[in-house]
Amino acid sequence: MANITNFHFKDKKALIRVDFNVPLDDKFHITDDTRIKAALPTIQKVISEGGSVILMSHLGRPKGSASEKYSLKHLIAHLSTLLNGVAVKFSAACIGQAATQASQDLKAGEVLLLENLRFHQEEEKGDEAFAKSLASLGDVYINDAFGTAHRAHASTAIIAKFFDANSRMFGYLMEAEVNNAEKVMHNSEYPFTAIIGGAKVSDKILIIEMLLNKASNIIIGGGMAYTFLKSQGFNVGSSLCENDKLDLANELLNKAKLKGVNFYLPLDSIMADQFSPEAQSKEVENADMSDGWMGLDIGSKTIGLYQNVVLNSKTILWNGPMGVFEFEKFQNGTKEIALAIAEATRQGAFSLIGGGDSVAAINKFHLANDVSYVSTGGGALLEYFEGKELPGITAMKA
Ligand code: AMP
Repeated sequence: MANITNFHFKDKKALIRVDFNVPLDDKFHITDDTRIKAALPTIQKVISEGGSVILMSHLGRPKGSASEKYSLKHLIAHLSTLLNGVAVKFSAACIGQAATQASQDLKAGEVLLLENLRFHQEEEKGDEAFAKSLASLGDVYINDAFGTAHRAHASTAIIAKFFDANSRMFGYLMEAEVNNAEKVMHNSEYPFTAIIGGAKVSDKILIIEMLLNKASNIIIGGGMAYTFLKSQGFNVGSSLCENDKLDLANELLNKAKLKGVNFYLPLDSIMADQFSPEAQSKEVENADMSDGWMGLDIGSKTIGLYQNVVLNSKTILWNGPMGVFEFEKFQNGTKEIALAIAEATRQGAFSLIGGGDSVAAINKFHLANDVSYVSTGGGALLEYFEGKELPGITAMKA
């Protein structure tokens, strides 16, 4: 695999797989352009050196057929603005004669955006012929889409084999994502604290299993904490709880003990009488949780305990909020933990934030610049830390 920093793009057509799967409102305005901004350094490197850029991405889940709703043409104007006015050409087909012509017509410094790859079901099927047609559009292939690195799709993995090792490379975003994830996974300084929150234990079993072999401390928050608490005999009222995972929760706690990993559960919670931003709420300790009330945030004793662990850590991985941070009344636990991560980072810890909702939370509290790295890859990052192979990475290194 080549290295983007050392590569010179003059007169090269760079076919770049980006992740432009951005949220749009019903008037097709982009409501969060983080993913587009994250791809700009790679695009700018190519065009500033006299190369041209062909961008390919998916948007939403069109399931193999074309639709106005999922057209990437809605991104043209904003992408052009972000590229300081560079015109963005558009090909309404991502393969075939029209795409080939558009690619051939491309001049140095120009940018071409291809229509949504997932308008063709061959993309998600990882179809070789489709990948080959896409590959024919560029001289070099750059994968800058970490968000889809866990998928063996035509444009993210299968395509790599149609470029020799010197003509395929990671983009800057992909490189940063992989380096930061590897740093936590393989070169973490200790104490290493993993903060795992979010809704369900079942989504996080594999990452917790993996972390039991790596982390010094595992901190549990969010809805999933109540399955653990119930497994320890507490009445969790109407809190989110996966009753079929109680044995598993118990098993994870026992494994942590055996392996000498400190496994932290909430000591207290903010309980609500309904799942609503206007709910009545009260702070109670675990033993005082009662029927008819649900835990929507961690309480103040828990916050104090967790902050202390975080502040004494050298490596911090955070995936999943500590409570329903979308409701102001129940955001405090998530916010206080985010502030502690920022403080630990200022004191020299390395902090990696990943997984959709913890990223949304860190952005909500304007702390994205106060942590070491905020990953753009939700599912991909999770799978990386579950120890799974990511096809988008493996194919490049093959
Ligand atoms: P996940 O995608 O699994 O990381 O879950 C994130 C979601 O979990 C967010 O939308 C939170 O609102 C939600 N969540 C966090 N804590 C709780 C809780 N105590 N009860 C219900 N939902 C929660």
